[in-house]
Amino acid sequence: MRRRAPAPGGPAAHPPARRAPLPRRPSPPAAAPAAGAEAAPAAAPSADAAAPAPAAAVIVGGGPAGLAAALQLASRGWSDVVVLERRGSVEHADTDLSYVYNIDARGRRLLERHGLAADLEAAGVSTAVVDVTRVFPDGRKEQRQQSVKDPTRHTHWLPRPAFVRILANALGRPPFSSRVRVITGASVTAVRRSNTPGGGVVVEYEAPGGARAALRPALLLGCDGVDSSVRAALEGWADADPRLRAAAGSFSPRRVPCPSAGLRFKVLQLPPRPALRDGSALENSGFALLQGRPSAALGRGAAAIRLGLLPFAEPDAPRTANLITREGHPIWEVADGEAMYSVLSESLPQADWRALVAPADMARFAASRGGAFPEPTHPDGAGAAVDGAAVLLLGDALHCFPPDLGQGVNSALLDVLALDESLSAAAKPKTEGGEAAAGEGREAALPEAVDLAAAAEDYHRRQLPQAEALCKLLPLGFPYQYSAGPRRTLWNFVFLAQLALSRALPWLMPPPTFMMVQDAGMDYVSILARVRRAQLVGRAILAALALAAASLVLRLARAGAGAA
Ligand SMILES: Cc1cc2nc3c(=O)[nH]c(=O)nc-3n(C[C@H](O)[C@H](O)[C@H](O)COP(=O)(O)OP(=O)(O)OC[C@H]3O[C@@H](n4cnc5c(N)ncnc54)[C@H](O)[C@@H]3O)c2cc1C
Repeated sequence: MRRRAPAPGGPAAHPPARRAPLPRRPSPPAAAPAAGAEAAPAAAPSADAAAPAPAAAVIVGGGPAGLAAALQLASRGWSDVVVLERRGSVEHADTDLSYVYNIDARGRRLLERHGLAADLEAAGVSTAVVDVTRVFPDGRKEQRQQSVKDPTRHTHWLPRPAFVRILANALGRPPFSSRVRVITGASVTAVRRSNTPGGGVVVEYEAPGGARAALRPALLLGCDGVDSSVRAALEGWADADPRLRAAAGSFSPRRVPCPSAGLRFKVLQLPPRPALRDGSALENSGFALLQGRPSAALGRGAAAIRLGLLPFAEPDAPRTANLITREGHPIWEVADGEAMYSVLSESLPQADWRALVAPADMARFAASRGGAFPEPTHPDGAGAAVDGAAVLLLGDALHCFPPDLGQGVNSALLDVLALDESLSAAAKPKTEGGEAAAGEGREAALPEAVDLAAAAEDYHRRQLPQAEALCKLLPLGFPYQYSAGPRRTLWNFVFLAQLALSRALPWLMPPPTFMMVQDAGMDYVSILARVRRAQLVGRAILAALALAAASLVLRLARAGAGAA
């Protein structure tokens, strides 16, 4: 079996909605752009922030984690679930920032549970067999077909909007459409304790049109990404409340240094099947890497730039190319379209950039400040019981990191499955009559008798170690994939040496980190444990080699002295 190599050029973008939107299915009610446009839940949000309306669950953030969590709760029978998403549409993506997701068997588990695996296959490009093309500045091409024989390791590449649409469409179908309300254009402005004992937590938000509203959920899920307001609220509460801090952690960020953290990226929009100067086209369904050369326009000392293109299932969708560099690269000083045409023409002569990219698009690309890969970060708590409500963090709100291992969405979907397990584990015992004990007070709105405080504790115990392990795997995975240079060469050497050793002596040396992460049968904690073992074995081998070299030198020196 040939292993799936990391994607050339790293993350890529979705086709731009402005020029040629992805074909859309009719917009599901769940993804409707404004509050009230959907089937109303049991309790409508209060228009008065001072009198919050009760809700079974409020999910802050309508990204992959939030929509998947809504689907999971609804399939448990929960109704009165409200998703608050600040964007005008859950499928929204910034033209110059967005990316293509690689959904592996970890992420697929949740989709399979909800009968959505076929949607993933229809919308994505499978890695079972995929073309990889590398084009050098002199026009030379290196083409190969990459195949993964083991079906458990097949993954699918698809643009973020296409992935989110799978979840949104599912939420728009009965019975979920009457259980979940996705309010887009709703920005959460405050998450606070209710200030009454057992009164739970209150989520305030600005609804579309500027009206203020507030909800008081029994279960609050922070699925609001890297800069999570729910996580910030937990941190503030833990800071002020030693009992909460002792029980659930401080929620302050723990950072793991990683070589790829801080790298900057932006996305250039290209036409479908972009043409090269030699008349050939880069098919949408394959990976492509345009390798650049040093250019006078960027300064001779500047590292050559590269553009990475990730696969798109739609043959006629506009294509995207990722530019990823270190902070401070002179390309970020090129701020106008004309100058960018000159830089690209000189650095990447494989294509005629004026023919490929319209002046307005090139001007926007040049002006874009792009994004930066976050440092692997997780709080020291994954959830807590607060004044009778359960508050949990999922997805990037719990763990964020650079996209080196392609685990962002996949790990977010695992969080959702863990939430489901925690709710099951915290089910209240059945009464003698065989019925589940009825919930009281706030729990009366819930479809199941569940001890939410126990669920929060269980989730914290399950997911915090996974988040921590995942963040620690990032610097060990494949952090040098975005550039050429001595560090990458050294990394490649160590990777190949470890691979060879793991094949020759599998009982002694585990496979390289990157390959273990591709084994979806292993969880992140187990992978990290094996990585630590590999490090010990590696150090022991190095020590043995150093000892052997020293004794050889000593013997040679003695032999030399004897001969003299
Ligand atoms: C360049 C790049 C490439 C990537 N490639 C991959 C990949 O190949 N595979 C992979 O698995 N992962 C990848 N990732 C990571 C992936 O994008 C994230 O892990 C994933 O989006 C996390 O999903 P989420 O739902 O937790 O958070 P997000 O996707 O960030 O969603 C959070 C949502 O919350 C909303 N929100 C935030 N604050 C508020 C508020 N106050 N009120 C209301 N709504 C709010 C936001 O608008 C957003 O829609 C990549 C990331 C980057 C940057």
